[in-house]
Amino acid sequence: MTENLFDYEARCKAFDEQYQVVCETIASAAKRAGRKPEEITLLAATKTVPAPVIAYAVSKGLCCIGENRVQELLEKYEQLPLADCDLQFIGKLQTNKVKYLVDKVSCIQSVDSEKLAQTISKACVDRGKVMPVLVEVNIGKEASKGGVAAEALEGLLEKLSPCPGIQVRGLMAIPPAGATEAEMKGYFTEMVQYYVDIKSKNIDNVSMDCLSMGMSDDYAAAIECGATMVRVGSALFGRRG
Ligand SMILES: *Cc1c(COP(=O)(O)O)cnc(C)c1O
Repeated sequence: MTENLFDYEARCKAFDEQYQVVCETIASAAKRAGRKPEEITLLAATKTVPAPVIAYAVSKGLCCIGENRVQELLEKYEQLPLADCDLQFIGKLQTNKVKYLVDKVSCIQSVDSEKLAQTISKACVDRGKVMPVLVEVNIGKEASKGGVAAEALEGLLEKLSPCPGIQVRGLMAIPPAGATEAEMKGYFTEMVQYYVDIKSKNIDNVSMDCLSMGMSDDYAAAIECGATMVRVGSALFGRRG
């Protein structure tokens, strides 16, 4: 452990309070939307959070964590409480890093190209496994961000469908930071339309079980619009330094 004991204890105490608030917020947003809180998975975005604090959070009931940098995931991996939680990858992924991840995570949420999908698929076939993935949609059409353009989504899914080492389970989006609440709801609603639309097409090997959207500032709105998974970091662990 590199952080001192005081920092660890303060962070755990802060987590206890914030975790309760987040759970209550999820429950009330679900209720407003006529949904059950159990329909929504809370994924804790744990970038920059030290592994011992993550372990504490998992001991308090958190069951799904997401890392978004391969290097950081590998550095923390041995210390993560993986017997008791599900580890997913939520960040931008380069094809040359895929080999480090496929044995370690239960889902890759950031697939946005045929090349990346094929690299994951091949690595998984070599290991005799199938990786659940989400396809990331660049919902705000931001040049700086990953994700497939909405217009290209269905075409990409048709190409991923025959890949034997992956199974598409849903969609993920990171709307533009700084959007107004109304704009955010617009993005979330648009994502729900793609999600429902694709589901109805029954593409082979493509199921829509997970719609991952909503972060600390807007997860309640995302749930009201239809998210099945929210990815929350700072609202659980405090602001990143
Ligand atoms: C950091 C991160 C989050 C959580 O962000 P917060 O605003 O801290 O809740 C969610 N998704 C991804 C992909 C992230 O990198």
